[in-house]
Amino acid sequence: MTDTLLHSPVSPDSALEILQKTYGFDHFRGAQAEVIDHVTCGGHAFVLMPTGGGKSLCYQIPSLLRNGVGVVISPLIALMQNQVDALRQLGIRAAAVNSTISGGDIAETKNAVLRGEVDLVYVAPERLLMDDFMHLLDEAPIALFAIDEAHCVSQWGHDFRPHYKQLSVLAERYPSVPRMALTATADAPTRRDIIDCLKLEDGQSFIAGFDRPNIHYSIVGKNNARAQMLSFIREHHAQDSGIVYCLSRKLTEETAAWLCGEGFTALPYHAGMAADMRKKHLERFLQEEKIIIVATIAFGMGIDKPDVRFVAHMTIPKNIEAYYQETGRAGRDGLPASALMIYGAQDAAMQRNFVETSSASEAQKRIEHQKLNALLGLCETAGCRRQVILDYFGDSCAPCGNCDTCLNPPETFDGTVVAQKALSAVYRTDQRFGTGYVTDVLRGKENARILGFGHEKISVYGIGADFSAAEWQAVFRQLIALNLLKVDAQYGGLQLTQAGLDFLKEKKTLRLRKAEKGKKRKTLRKAAAEQSFADEVDIALFNDLKAVRTELARKQGVPPYVIFHDKTLQDMVLLKPDTMESMAMVHGVGASKLDKYGPAFLGVIRKAV
Ligand code: ADP
Ligand code: ZN
Repeated sequence: MTDTLLHSPVSPDSALEILQKTYGFDHFRGAQAEVIDHVTCGGHAFVLMPTGGGKSLCYQIPSLLRNGVGVVISPLIALMQNQVDALRQLGIRAAAVNSTISGGDIAETKNAVLRGEVDLVYVAPERLLMDDFMHLLDEAPIALFAIDEAHCVSQWGHDFRPHYKQLSVLAERYPSVPRMALTATADAPTRRDIIDCLKLEDGQSFIAGFDRPNIHYSIVGKNNARAQMLSFIREHHAQDSGIVYCLSRKLTEETAAWLCGEGFTALPYHAGMAADMRKKHLERFLQEEKIIIVATIAFGMGIDKPDVRFVAHMTIPKNIEAYYQETGRAGRDGLPASALMIYGAQDAAMQRNFVETSSASEAQKRIEHQKLNALLGLCETAGCRRQVILDYFGDSCAPCGNCDTCLNPPETFDGTVVAQKALSAVYRTDQRFGTGYVTDVLRGKENARILGFGHEKISVYGIGADFSAAEWQAVFRQLIALNLLKVDAQYGGLQLTQAGLDFLKEKKTLRLRKAEKGKKRKTLRKAAAEQSFADEVDIALFNDLKAVRTELARKQGVPPYVIFHDKTLQDMVLLKPDTMESMAMVHGVGASKLDKYGPAFLGVIRKAV
């Protein structure tokens, strides 16, 4: 029997004092205060917050307030050191235990834990479950268990880890130590699995809203993906770090090489790369500024580089959940960020194919198809993107004013005749061809393929010459999204669905979105930092502060944001503190960082003013 029942908040500090003194933040966000209160008093908790919502504080502060060490279980060994570094900068006694750490260091950490000299220990589940670690926990005072990325316990979730499932042992072996499960994954079956496995029935659930208002969403139809990507990055994010997602390993390599050729620092990242190369690229991404990582979806879980300013998809993601999680990696520091998706009919076909040819059960496939339909609905909506996304998660909002459709409401037109032409063309060419070929037939092209099949003689040949190829692409995308057409999983040919046949037979009407032509669009802001400053002097000061930060970071071998976030530097520019006292008022400047870095940054500000 452990003595954890006797634990009670013993520290005189209050949670708010720690937030302000140690972290340098003014107030709690959303449900943070409630969660911290509940867990500090010994309760179990299930915490669902979007990425960047501020989950870490929810277990860090109770670990500081309660007696004993806070044990944080995380699947992401590669990122543990980063988290530990960031906490140490704040003066918090943190350590990691995993396979990359030497035996000597681990022994030292264990002794420190026994002596009660560690506030937080980060450990991979495999490691936690080993006998030696369990024995340590039997002996040491434990403040709490925080199970981060808790969706990994669920086979429904997208990151199932068998070791996570075994964490059910925590409830049996340490029943009175508070257990917290934290995740950003929304769906109900996953939630149930987590609560079940970690025995959180008696705990409290804290479910935050899903909105990430600082992320600008836009989705564009594909006509030339590279040109579209390039103008997006050049116009809005030339000075920023970002993530570009691609569908295949080969494409990530090619796209990274191409971006480098365009003058950016871009690195590929995918599961097929050698492990040490992957590690190196991840480290560079975390350490450097103005860097782009080009990745398959294998990349990203738990990435908490706070200054990722954009997440761009070269092709459609798997479904809305995946999309929201991937785009959620942008703008964790709360500053404006953007998400761009380039979406083509062929991508949709490819995703359908993945589902169809997977080894999943028929029931599971049906679910996946529905999820894909919801994603296509998001792509084709003429309404607010954010409303569609939040609605998918059972949340809601007013039209957001920060997505492409809010800023430039798409024009719609009576698409009845156009849809009839498209569907007939698919039908008359025997439902065997993809959008490119059917478009050529509609536009009356004379090429060898068309002549070879004799399709220049059919009634639909040339009836769509008034539309450009791009306009027809947009029409086909919408007809697929509306489920009037489907794409043959094996060969990529377009086929009429029952709904498509009914549409033709019953002479239904239909409104469609107009394809975007090169017209000037209202666009979002320039780079986040520049926008907030009024004049050149401030921009220069901001850059000087950044330079000091880079230098300090380099000396210690940590990423610049571990020293201070951009938001903190921005605050310095706006407030121009001239004493240590006024420096302490700046967002993100806690006592430890004030000591360490206050003088250096004050020096730069004094020189500029
Ligand atoms: P999550 O784990 O939920 O994705 P984090 O815990 O990493 O999110 O927090 C995201 C960012 O927000 C971090 O940079 C963190 O320092 C910052 N943050 C968290 N809580 C607050 C707060 N109360 N005030 C200001 N910044 C906060
Ligand atoms: Zn909107």
